[in-house]
Amino acid sequence: DLSALSELVVRLKDNRIDVLRLAFCDLTGVERSRDILVSSMVSVLSNGVPFSSEIYRRTDGAAMGQSRIEAVKTAGDILGYLDIGTLKAVPWEAGVAHGILDLHNLDGTAVAEDPREVLRRVQGKLTAMGLVPLVGPELEFYLLEPDGNSGWQRYGSGGGNIYSSGLKGDPENFLLNSLRMLEGFEIGAFGANHEFSSGQFEINLWHCIATEAADRAFRFKSAIKEMGRQTNKLATFMAKPFNGESGSGFHLHFSILDDLGRPLFEDKGGPDGLSDLARSAIAGVLRHARAVTALCSPTINSYKRFAPGTFAPWLVDWGLNDRGAMIRIPSQRGLSTRMELRLGDASANPYLAIAGLLAGAYLGIKEELTLPEVRTGDPRDLIALPRTLRDAIEALRDDEELVELLGDGFVDAFICLKRDEIERFSRYVTDWEFIEYAYHL
Ligand code: GLU
Ligand code: MG
Ligand code: MG
Repeated sequence: DLSALSELVVRLKDNRIDVLRLAFCDLTGVERSRDILVSSMVSVLSNGVPFSSEIYRRTDGAAMGQSRIEAVKTAGDILGYLDIGTLKAVPWEAGVAHGILDLHNLDGTAVAEDPREVLRRVQGKLTAMGLVPLVGPELEFYLLEPDGNSGWQRYGSGGGNIYSSGLKGDPENFLLNSLRMLEGFEIGAFGANHEFSSGQFEINLWHCIATEAADRAFRFKSAIKEMGRQTNKLATFMAKPFNGESGSGFHLHFSILDDLGRPLFEDKGGPDGLSDLARSAIAGVLRHARAVTALCSPTINSYKRFAPGTFAPWLVDWGLNDRGAMIRIPSQRGLSTRMELRLGDASANPYLAIAGLLAGAYLGIKEELTLPEVRTGDPRDLIALPRTLRDAIEALRDDEELVELLGDGFVDAFICLKRDEIERFSRYVTDWEFIEYAYHL
């Protein structure tokens, strides 16, 4: 290990890298990181980079009536070890390389609440069956710029349209420059365009094995936020920043290979050209959808994105090329046969959203579930998605099979964190209340 690190130092110095940005993902999906000088990295990394486990456990303390300070004082350490394969030079910050840490407890076991570990655990269930899950993430986001009044306004002065690119909706070429920068960051970004709403954009990533896809989506989000800051913009992945404007989705394209790399989702003779395995995987995601929603749409604000008559879902449904359905089956077949889960919004923790998708698919395959008919007729015959974060959290807590796959310890920590968010929100007086009541009542 020490010799691998020393070799790495030489390689980094040859590439004029003098700082490592060592990152991991917290439960909310936000990057936590520490910059370490390459000249000190061998001694820092060989012992593990220490962090307080309060990152993952503080709300337990809060729930027990502990103050934040108490929780921090009593939290144990966790140690981060660099996953060397994740190191990439940061194109927009000369001399810096970015790498992802795996988190361990002091006894050497993996931290069960680490989202990367949660996903690895769920993916392991599929790979143990000889199945390789492929995921292609699409992320939408808004770019905001200072409005001159210490607030933020949407960037681009309303010039863009859906599927446009260029100066019209992006006068400073932020999107074009970002796409080029991202090529150097090696996260499989391949396309970029303006979205439906003014100031809203999308970048697509190639599909790859699920754990790698989550790493890429995680690094993508912090890259866009960083490049935004460099150009005095706020890039936001919140689900629904503006009334009457599109929410920002985190669509996941999903298919499965066997362990020889052969695609398993197509069957030319099957209904709609889909294999039994694909149909069971989709059925599993549908069956567990209300619980998976807690992971894919994890904020109070997320539930304002779900609405009929938009490109975001509101029912637990699937459809052939239906962009209003929770699961869309794109029309391409052959190697591109896949499902698109449109449930998630951009605020989701990529590791957890993908873990939820894989867990649902795994359960469907294991139990050989049959896929219900495509929705026709009255939507009232279908199950609706949770209307609030509280509903989704309850659905997650009640889904025993899913909880077991994700891990009890993780689910407890996640629910604790989300209950705290719900509690704080329920006591907060919003603008809407003032407008609705103050004058009238
Ligand atoms: N913005 C939509 C959503 O919230 C998706 C639009 C699209 O299909 O690109 O999911
Ligand atoms: Mg889109
Ligand atoms: Mg899409």
